[in-house]
Amino acid sequence: MMRQADPFDLQERLLKQQAQHRYRQRQTLESPQQAHVQLQGKTLLNFCSNDYLGLANHPKLIESAGAALRRFGTGSGASHLVCGHSSAHHALEEALAEFTGRERALLFSTGYMANTGVLGALLSNESQVLEDRLNHASLLDGGLHSGARFKRYRHNDVDDLARLLGKQPELPSLVVTDGVFSMDGDCAPLAELASVCADYPAWLMVDDAHGFGVLGKTGAGLIEAQNLSPAQVPVMMATLGKALGCAGAFVAGSETLIEALIQFARPYIYTTAMPPAMAAAALTALSLLSEESWRRDQVLSNVRYFRQLAQEAGLPLMLSETPIQPLLIGDEALAMQMATNLREAGFWITAIRPPTVPAGTSRLRVTLTAEHQSHEIERLVSQLSIEWQRLAQEATL
Ligand SMILES: *Cc1c(COP(=O)(O)O)cnc(C)c1O
Repeated sequence: MMRQADPFDLQERLLKQQAQHRYRQRQTLESPQQAHVQLQGKTLLNFCSNDYLGLANHPKLIESAGAALRRFGTGSGASHLVCGHSSAHHALEEALAEFTGRERALLFSTGYMANTGVLGALLSNESQVLEDRLNHASLLDGGLHSGARFKRYRHNDVDDLARLLGKQPELPSLVVTDGVFSMDGDCAPLAELASVCADYPAWLMVDDAHGFGVLGKTGAGLIEAQNLSPAQVPVMMATLGKALGCAGAFVAGSETLIEALIQFARPYIYTTAMPPAMAAAALTALSLLSEESWRRDQVLSNVRYFRQLAQEAGLPLMLSETPIQPLLIGDEALAMQMATNLREAGFWITAIRPPTVPAGTSRLRVTLTAEHQSHEIERLVSQLSIEWQRLAQEATL
């Protein structure tokens, strides 16, 4: 036998993953991302995308991306600091700064890179980072790799955060939280977090990937909805791949913060700039937040309708008022089984399992968008309720 056949025990690790019902598989879409999708020749009602406003296949975004493709070509050709920074990128950055009420904004190729970039640039072994336990993996990874002292506080627990900050009150600290928690749908108490930070040499950073475009009077996100100033949240991050229907991300903040990121954020410096056409599409998406503000009202009214029906049906809803409406199943195999049954009935909902969520809290992550019709939400809840009752019956047998 060749000695190097499997030096990393990949076979064994894959088998273990399967035995634990954690094996992940991709499903290949044959249509645009929208409420009805084509999957392996079958049409499914899609309740698992983050395209909350239904912009990912919007004709105006396609039109502006097309015009930018003809003007700028496909690839940006280089990183922003070499020769890849186009006027399309620049216009989007200026619009994002204005929209978020901050001095400047900086584009990143992905949200994952924005988060690891900010944490790596700000932190060192002479500082600490405190993160909500349920933060997105990119924030946790960025904190762990930053070299800073890394602490996690209990979910949305401001007292726990204050206790941890009080242990080393002189240490420069970055407090980091999801705005809307991606697998739970609940929101961080930003004013309370900011007020704890104010007692220390601490900055608050909010990752509003799921709030941006959806929450707040103008769609500027959770920071707007909870009415916090840039001074209270010096670092705002959001992505362009969810409600805005595009791809990429940005960080908004002071002139100094953005200049520091340009100099020190390695995932900004050492990567190719996003395609200019994507920036052009995102700029159009940003203007649609006001031109088609009905989309925000629609998705939130769909959320209320879903919750009302799900409550009446006795489904295991979680405490969320955002388009992320998980149903807490618990067991991994049961969550998988429900997702499979739902697929057969024509509904696409993903089962979220460990390590994405803590063991024993596997869930069906239902997401609503502005494109869902009320009769579709009704059909969804009645199918969910059939599957849920079947589960309950099997459990008592
Ligand atoms: C999706 C997401 C990210 C990552 O953004 P990408 O652009 O997909 O890399 C970061 N943070 C949160 C909370 C997210 O939900």
